[in-house]
Amino acid sequence: MLSDFGGFPPGTPQAVCRPTSLYELQAAMADCAARRRQMRTRCFAHSMNGMAVPRSDETLIDLTGVRHIVWNGRGAITVGAGLAVWDLDQYVRRFGWKLPVVNDGGAAASSVGGLIAAGGIGEGCMLHGGFWESVASLVLVTAAGEVRTVTRDNPVFPWLFGSFGALGVVYEAVIDLVPASSARPRRVVDTPALPEQARTVWPPHLWLTLFVTGSQLEDAIACLHDLASANPGVWRPRSAYEYFVLHRRFNPPLVFEAGRDFIAVGVWGDRSGEDADLSGYLAMEAGFQALVEARGWRRYFQSELIRDRRPLDRYVGSDTADAFHALKAAWDPAGLLNAFMAPA
Ligand SMILES: Cc1cc2nc3c(=O)[nH]c(=O)nc-3n(C[C@H](O)[C@H](O)[C@H](O)COP(=O)(O)OP(=O)(O)OC[C@H]3O[C@@H](n4cnc5c(N)ncnc54)[C@H](O)[C@@H]3O)c2cc1C
Repeated sequence: MLSDFGGFPPGTPQAVCRPTSLYELQAAMADCAARRRQMRTRCFAHSMNGMAVPRSDETLIDLTGVRHIVWNGRGAITVGAGLAVWDLDQYVRRFGWKLPVVNDGGAAASSVGGLIAAGGIGEGCMLHGGFWESVASLVLVTAAGEVRTVTRDNPVFPWLFGSFGALGVVYEAVIDLVPASSARPRRVVDTPALPEQARTVWPPHLWLTLFVTGSQLEDAIACLHDLASANPGVWRPRSAYEYFVLHRRFNPPLVFEAGRDFIAVGVWGDRSGEDADLSGYLAMEAGFQALVEARGWRRYFQSELIRDRRPLDRYVGSDTADAFHALKAAWDPAGLLNAFMAPA
């Protein structure tokens, strides 16, 4: 039985595929496509909305075995989707480089594929933009088992970030590195599989994050403060956070509107024994969603503990949801990948 970081009701898949090569991934997905079998992609299950939890009629595609690193020259590397972003950053630092954006918290959390599926923000966004800005191209396998390379100049590219793997399974990504210091960086040594590190056991964090513009920030902070104050006991609170997310080339439409910087501002805490069944938290989350819709703001729904299955337009607006669903219909006409991102 498999759950996720948010303790979503666990499930057992009908079959499990743990590819270590593109060939194995493609063959498994082509087989599922031929049988019209639903697929569930999963890496470290750090998500909290059930999107990585397999159902009994699904084949689980477990990416944790895809762990290669290949130096491309000129400060770019091709990396397997199953590598922890944090571990990858630690590795390239040995050669004088760093990833522009990694997850926060000082330890391994999301995989490369998982961070793409969420969108990807962290402290480095202030200087480098979102994780999406440092990804130059992706190799993914579609629901039909076709391999596609999608580069950052492809109109589909921005839609892959924040899409929960609903358009395809990411096998590898090309990431642009930046020098870690003023010392001259060296070539990163290739490896067919970076050894897996011991997985960090994280406290049971919960968070709610708004994405707003600079002019909306004061109001957003006040609303978050009111929300947290009105819901004591739902978590053991931690200090609120703010990140500036620099716009460089694009914003993923499923994350934020085009063409501008934004700010991620949120409140968080750790699950509390007083709210063991999450009823208090889930009521607060519903209030948070009502706030988001009333103000016309965006939230980082991809990374939050959500149990309601809401239609996508309630998170991203109807124009963006319609455009995404048209893309989903074109890339996955049989609806085999993450059916939760299909129209409700
Ligand atoms: C302790 C902790 C810290 C976090 N810190 C941050 C942070 O600093 N910044 C941030 O932006 N987010 C953060 N998150 C949220 C996290 O990035 C997302 O939940 C992310 O999706 C988890 O990655 P994962 O590898 O565990 O993916 P999973 O939970 O296994 O999967 C999540 C989604 O991604 C899909 N998916 C996974 N791999 C692939 C793939 N290769 N191809 C296609 N789809 C795929 C799954 O189908 C599922 O829909 C954090 C989460 C936790 C629990």
